[in-house]
Amino acid sequence: MHYEVYSKDMLSSTTRAFGSPLRYVQGQGEFGRLPLYTAPYGNACVIIDGFLYQDLNARLEKAYAESDAKFVSISFNGECCEEEVERIGKIARENGAAVIVGAGGGKTMDTAKICADEMGLPVIIAPSSASTDAPVSEIAVVYKPDGEYIGSRKMKKNADLVLVDTEIIVKAPRRLFVAGMGDALATWLEAQACECSDSPNYIGSGMRRCKAGMAIAKASWDILFEDGEKALMALDSGVVTEAFENVVEANTLLSGLGFLNTGLATAHGIHSGLTVLPETHKYLHGEKVAFGIVCQMVLENTPAETVDKVMRFMVAIGLPVTLADLGVAAEHDKVLAIAEKTANGPLIHQEPFAVTTERVYGAIIAADALGRKYKGL
Ligand SMILES: [Zn+2]
Repeated sequence: MHYEVYSKDMLSSTTRAFGSPLRYVQGQGEFGRLPLYTAPYGNACVIIDGFLYQDLNARLEKAYAESDAKFVSISFNGECCEEEVERIGKIARENGAAVIVGAGGGKTMDTAKICADEMGLPVIIAPSSASTDAPVSEIAVVYKPDGEYIGSRKMKKNADLVLVDTEIIVKAPRRLFVAGMGDALATWLEAQACECSDSPNYIGSGMRRCKAGMAIAKASWDILFEDGEKALMALDSGVVTEAFENVVEANTLLSGLGFLNTGLATAHGIHSGLTVLPETHKYLHGEKVAFGIVCQMVLENTPAETVDKVMRFMVAIGLPVTLADLGVAAEHDKVLAIAEKTANGPLIHQEPFAVTTERVYGAIIAADALGRKYKGL
């Protein structure tokens, strides 16, 4: 804790709340045990990422052949939009689906969440990488069929089961795993900012955090520093180790529960601000959040010891720490555009002090300089 606690009086209630998926299961080969998890509900409708369809569908054919449970699989068309939800809903109904499963990346998982929510069915989320903490949240991002962003949508409840197969995760691209560590690393820093400002979490329409939320956010931070580099070495060698399992849990479960139950602040605010520049669109969520972490530390004037620990870690695992790392030229107009979009958004105002566009501008410039220093540029 490095700033005085003071309330911005954002909450009128003292009620505290905690939310989460019903169950979380993580281990090697767990996807192949899907029939065990869907059988109690009835027929399963499994939506699979187009890129992974052949591989994952083959695993399911084998697994379901050895069981009495039944499934129908659908290759996801690539966009989380109303048309796709309708198409999948029709197939699910025709096959008497009693549970929806989403296996793959963020858009596949989000589509499964919406389909299940609309049909009033339970949902199982099986991520194919540990690149974000989205599997744990009940929030989905909706687009138009051509990919234009519409907005985010909150489901009535979190997943009934988040099923993480570390055998699949260890084969996903390295960059996705590193980005997941960026998303997870922000969790504890943002949780502390939200605690100090007594900002609402994401439970219901926003309530006060439970101690549980803070403890989980801190656990995610501790695991990354203890096991992050070891986990990356395991991934590079193509093997699952205890350290790798720990970081998958930190990126997915702990980071997800952490942010839902404690709130977000500058790191994610800067992420949203960066999206104003088209050159950042090809960078991953966790990569933009990573530069946001540097900005948050500058804005909060975090003690040097913590800054040093975080910067060394981020550089060591290859997370972006400069504007150039995100393809952005450090020019006045561009930095100002990021600062304006960030300051106009809600997240940065979860910090326990007043934030102006000028301060955000200054934080981005200073963060970029700090990142260059640690990269030896
Ligand atoms: Zn995030």
